[in-house]
Amino acid sequence: MTVAAERIDRLHGLARAAAADGDQERARYYVRLARRVAERNRIALPREFRRFTCDACDAYLRPGKNARVRTRDGHVVITCDCGTQARYPYRE
Ligand SMILES: [Zn+2]
Repeated sequence: MTVAAERIDRLHGLARAAAADGDQERARYYVRLARRVAERNRIALPREFRRFTCDACDAYLRPGKNARVRTRDGHVVITCDCGTQARYPYRE
């Protein structure tokens, strides 16, 4: 793992912990930092990070808390409280 990837991993953990504490602003701060590290180092964000963050408002998504998860037509649709939806192909 590169140094940048490790930082992103750590920021992801901090965002998840902040969201679990109910501190969405702090979670957003870590999500934005992680995005910036990825951009600057031109590396892709881990899939799990992309799945659990909102592209529009940078919220760390917690299904049942600030996000709804539905399956539809072979896709998982995640709706953030801000109204933004993300769709992912369903497989398993
Ligand atoms: Zn959002």
